[in-house]
Amino acid sequence: MKRLVIATHNAKKAGEMIQILSARFPELELKTLADYPDAPEPEETGDTYPENAAIKSESAAKFTGEWCVADDAGLEIDHLGGGPGVHSKRFEGEDSSFEHKINRILEMLNGVPEEGRGARFRCYVALTPPDGGETQIFNAVCEGRIATERSGRGGFGYDPIFFLPERNCTMADLTAEEKHLVSHRGKVLKAFGDHLTTLL
Ligand code: IMP
Repeated sequence: MKRLVIATHNAKKAGEMIQILSARFPELELKTLADYPDAPEPEETGDTYPENAAIKSESAAKFTGEWCVADDAGLEIDHLGGGPGVHSKRFEGEDSSFEHKINRILEMLNGVPEEGRGARFRCYVALTPPDGGETQIFNAVCEGRIATERSGRGGFGYDPIFFLPERNCTMADLTAEEKHLVSHRGKVLKAFGDHLTTLL
């Protein structure tokens, strides 16, 4: 493998994946779907993270004829029975802002004590070969809890309310490098990277 396509239309997610993978594999040519403007954006119709990750990597591999990697992540909140989970992107409507999604979560957890605010980011990564071969799946979690107010300007999405007890701050308070050391995406891409070394 000389080239890898990161199959996402989310620029922030692509940015994190490029940062993590290029630091470890400087010789690997990394592309994103921004390099393939006509690539379809498949519906994430799966009921699970690995299904949705595979839908994205397989669609991209078919279109580009390259090795493709995609991730599917979600925020699971104990007080919401594990929601929004696999529906995190569509929570309160796909087009609603994170300003709104975060306000709703803070509202729903209003008055819930610290011990009831447990949450985790879960992330699955799918790798699909260019020749229609089998997709491989990797996963990781990052445990934390929902803060009582937002904090920080780093990261993206739900990061400003994801509190990391061991760092005593939210994910958005961390620098990008610090986030990658503890995050679901950093962890899963470490396992993914270990596998990639066998393909380069
Ligand atoms: P998906 O993997 O693009 O379906 O992501 C699910 C939802 O979780 C989207 O709304 C993302 O913006 C959000 N999300 C994914 N990764 C992260 C992260 O690292 N921090 C905060 N939010 C995230």
